[in-house]
Amino acid sequence: MDFGLTDEQRLLRETAREFVTKVCPPERAKAWDEAGTYPAELFTAMAELGWLSLPFPAALGGDDGGIVELCLLAEELGRASLDIAMCYAGTFIPGLTLLRWGSPAQHERYLADMMAGRTRFAVAMSEPDAGSDVAALRTSAVDDGDHFVVNGQKAWCTGASVPGAMIAIYVRTDPDAPRHRGLSLLLVDPASPGVEIRRTPTLARHILGTNEVFLTDVHVPKENLVGPLHGGWQVMLSGLDVEKILMSAAYVGTAQATLDEALAYARERRAFGRPIGEFQSLAHALADLQTEIDAARLLSYRAACLLAVGEPCTREGAMAKLKGSETYVSAARWGMQVLAGHGFSTESVMSFRWRESIVATISGGTSQIQRNAIARSMGLRSY
Ligand SMILES: Cc1cc2nc3c(=O)[nH]c(=O)nc-3n(C[C@H](O)[C@H](O)[C@H](O)COP(=O)(O)OP(=O)(O)OC[C@H]3O[C@@H](n4cnc5c(N)ncnc54)[C@H](O)[C@@H]3O)c2cc1C
Repeated sequence: MDFGLTDEQRLLRETAREFVTKVCPPERAKAWDEAGTYPAELFTAMAELGWLSLPFPAALGGDDGGIVELCLLAEELGRASLDIAMCYAGTFIPGLTLLRWGSPAQHERYLADMMAGRTRFAVAMSEPDAGSDVAALRTSAVDDGDHFVVNGQKAWCTGASVPGAMIAIYVRTDPDAPRHRGLSLLLVDPASPGVEIRRTPTLARHILGTNEVFLTDVHVPKENLVGPLHGGWQVMLSGLDVEKILMSAAYVGTAQATLDEALAYARERRAFGRPIGEFQSLAHALADLQTEIDAARLLSYRAACLLAVGEPCTREGAMAKLKGSETYVSAARWGMQVLAGHGFSTESVMSFRWRESIVATISGGTSQIQRNAIARSMGLRSY
């Protein structure tokens, strides 16, 4: 099940596994999460390994890699934690959108800094009243000569407050157009006057942090428009395919690590004179989980391979996201059951896995929204 990985891709996977063991093992990720620390040095180390330039063309200073390489890294980093995987993969969601839709001047201005680890991207689509129904977003950008004036409020913006962040913000530029039409994408520097960022208290994902972004009369230069004016919906959809696939790979990694930890415990912990993993009720649950994880991995790499060759993959990406996220939730739930009291202690890594897993079926589009997309691809009008 290696999808014909090249020697380079296998080496990349091994390097990433070693990186997690040495630099960000799950225990350290848990401590960062508890302290709400963003380890900037982690991002710098990834840049030094060349991981941040991987998917960009050589002509722009990149390594001519692609989504499969990103997925391999997201999966391995997911072994540390979902948030660590997103420290890496999250920046590529707007980063690859910029590559596809941005102008040469924008590539030159932002991508070199991103590859060097100086800039990272956050994306702000959601608003307090526009989550699953993201086309309902109301943040407005009004044309005012050489700039737009932006007003509104974004919600749940991951990583908006980490050093070097640029926020890719979806705004309404034509209030009179049908709601999927008058949208555009702007790059906004969070240091601009009129931008205020407030951390949202959450159950987990404290490393990158989740934020509200308030925008009051923010002047955004016209050169920061990415893609066509009023054509933001298409831009957003292309980014969502990337997001679903990268996140699905991260879930596979977190689910596999969770299962591996439960398995190690099940082999060691004894009850009634034998390792608890020998009780069939637990052994079968772990066997089912490994089967689910392998299925999720296959779906994830199928979607990545389709995206890599430019084939349509919205349905496959939705399946991968759905299966990966639900499998992670189920792995963490079973992990807690296997570790029992030891898992319930907040000192356990398993309790951290469980806390983090809850968001998997919510962020990046809920499970219901993925099922709607799959059902629609089957010709059913599912809302
Ligand atoms: C930790 C975290 C990080 C996030 N990061 C980002 C980010 O970086 N950028 C960003 O833009 N957003 C981000 N989000 C927002 C995320 O994408 C939304 O939370 C998600 O899309 C769901 O929106 P909502 O929370 O408003 O729920 P709602 O849309 O209000 O949904 C509530 C419930 O109704 C269900 N529902 C809604 N519509 C339908 C339907 N048509 N059919 C069936 N069920 C439906 C949902 O599945 C859910 O169960 C993040 C969220 C979290 C929690």
